[in-house]
Amino acid sequence: MISTEELLGTIRGEVLLGESMKEHTALKVGGSVDFFVDPLDREDLCGAIALFEARNLPYELIGRGSNLLVHDDGVRGALIITSRALGGYSVRKNILTAGAGALLPVIAEKTFGLSLGGMEMLQGIPGTVGGAIAMNAGAHGQEISSVVSRVEILHEGRVCMVPAHDITFGYRSCSLGRSVILGAEMKLKKLSDAECDKRGRLRREAFRRRSDSQPLSWPNAGSVFRNPRPEENPSGLSAGQMIDACGLKGLQRGGAVISETHANFIINAGDARAADVMELIVEARERVRTMFGVQLELEIKLLGFAKNCC
Ligand SMILES: Cc1cc2nc3c(=O)[nH]c(=O)nc-3n(C[C@H](O)[C@H](O)[C@H](O)COP(=O)(O)OP(=O)(O)OC[C@H]3O[C@@H](n4cnc5c(N)ncnc54)[C@H](O)[C@@H]3O)c2cc1C
Repeated sequence: MISTEELLGTIRGEVLLGESMKEHTALKVGGSVDFFVDPLDREDLCGAIALFEARNLPYELIGRGSNLLVHDDGVRGALIITSRALGGYSVRKNILTAGAGALLPVIAEKTFGLSLGGMEMLQGIPGTVGGAIAMNAGAHGQEISSVVSRVEILHEGRVCMVPAHDITFGYRSCSLGRSVILGAEMKLKKLSDAECDKRGRLRREAFRRRSDSQPLSWPNAGSVFRNPRPEENPSGLSAGQMIDACGLKGLQRGGAVISETHANFIINAGDARAADVMELIVEARERVRTMFGVQLELEIKLLGFAKNCC
């Protein structure tokens, strides 16, 4: 166990007790976490983790909460946000060194502005570097794993550099598992003026398609389900296309709705609860299984839910 006094006495940054996770997730859903920790700097973050481990207090790192569904009863233990402590980045020649809390849209824009290629298509992903590596985020033919050269992690109290060739990245997955990601080094490609023009055109077109095809004016957590592996999906349809084919666009449970714009997005159209979102998840999954024989897997990460609840 840990006392509030010990926590407040150890962590130099902010510690909020019973903070609502609606404020810290893109979907704006979820109950409160016992301890919401916003460390002041990297040393403070590592100190907080050492304390939690010594006291056996469960904790998770979160970035922008853009891929999270938090249970209505909240989360026991601590959630540590990385944006302040690990939000820095620097660019030297074609090497980007970024803390886990650095924002992907910011560094994607910055590096492309310096004629460096490799991350420019990731600009529309509203997460952090840590979240992007944990999820192997990708868009429009680029994945973060294709530029990562090494990742700095905190493992059993020690900071280690893990070369990319020792990490297995898959579709929205990364073998670092529950490791604490502190930052990463990314090797980008110097682009010629002609390449910049071409990539710039492709990028503008991709962003236009994205804003036309995603419900960006509503709170949401991005794609709810992963696209099924081709060998398990004879239809060849994406998760969103299958949900759409089941006629589920617009299906509403409480304040949560399967988006009319993109069937693989669930939006918070009012005061949605996590239970409403979960009802839609279960229903979409069941209908797709019946119609296509495909078991959809979640892409969003659940916090505060029982293991194997879904
Ligand atoms: C409108 C919208 C569009 C999106 N489009 C895309 C897209 O095109 N492609 C795509 O891949 N994703 C997309 N997403 C999903 C999401 O933005 C990405 O998965 C993003 O990388 C998550 O980053 P985050 O910082 O928000 O992570 P969070 O949502 O906060 O966390 C996600 C997971 O990463 C873990 N994590 C976060 N930081 C760390 C760390 N430092 N160390 C260890 N683990 C950590 C968390 O514990 C959690 O398991 C979209 C989301 C939205 C809302």
